[in-house]
Amino acid sequence: MLVRKVGKRGFVVSYENDYIGDTTNIYVINTEETIFVCDTFLGPNSMDKMVNHEELKDDFKKKQIIVFNSHFDWDHVWGNSYFEDEMIISHEKCKENLIESGKEGLEKHGTQKEGEVELVFPKITFSDKLVFEKEGVEFFHTPGHTTGSASCYDREDQVLFVGDNLEKPIPYLNVAPIDDYLASLRKYTTFQVKNFIPGHGEIATYELLEKNLAYLEEVKAMEFKLSNYSEQQKKIHVSNMQTMGSFLVKEGKKEEGMIYFKKALKALKNLYEISAEDTKKKLLNVIMAHEKEMSELK
Ligand SMILES: [Zn+2]
Repeated sequence: MLVRKVGKRGFVVSYENDYIGDTTNIYVINTEETIFVCDTFLGPNSMDKMVNHEELKDDFKKKQIIVFNSHFDWDHVWGNSYFEDEMIISHEKCKENLIESGKEGLEKHGTQKEGEVELVFPKITFSDKLVFEKEGVEFFHTPGHTTGSASCYDREDQVLFVGDNLEKPIPYLNVAPIDDYLASLRKYTTFQVKNFIPGHGEIATYELLEKNLAYLEEVKAMEFKLSNYSEQQKKIHVSNMQTMGSFLVKEGKKEEGMIYFKKALKALKNLYEISAEDTKKKLLNVIMAHEKEMSELK
């Protein structure tokens, strides 16, 4: 666990985990009477280490604690159980999603638990935003990585905690359509921000926001500048096109879905320089796989 001070009253607490493959960040805002904890990582043991850290332990003992979940993904909420008796807040959809799929995440990734994990759901939810005026801290809905994703802005330090809405080098897409995601990133550009804290990886600047935004704009326009992409970016892009394609096919929008599959194959071809013949074969395989999915749904 690495604890770094950001601004006058912020702390980025980062945890390593090989299974996740990147560091995961918790953001703590230590205001006069209240400590805000953004996200709770993998369980009570990791939260216990943070609460007893030299620089934070006295304040955690005497101040009110407010916990925030940026979204319902397992790697951001399992530590809620450590804060069972405290105020836990999230967007209303985040809570709904956690109630619906929390158990599934726990079963699937349970080997990663840090301590005894019980699913503890947010107690206070908001639909648009929730502002703590006196403390200068606001939470607001920013759908993107998930439909219930929300972000936290510290007005005093000008720090924006974005959960998994910003990713390096470009975001993975999980939900279609992407208009809401685009709107959320555009909203970020209206804030004065000294530091962006993503749910994973390094503390970021406007540059990461701009890169993520530029990519989503390309997705929206369905025009990709593949020649500018790094290899890693191309791989994420292929995965995104497949995700979008199958999402749309499952929704019954077969033709729209196929457009994404074709884009996925174009990127695949660019990435591995496979022949036109192979590309055609792969495309047919993808379409057939999804035909099967569709017939199973009926
Ligand atoms: Zn995550």
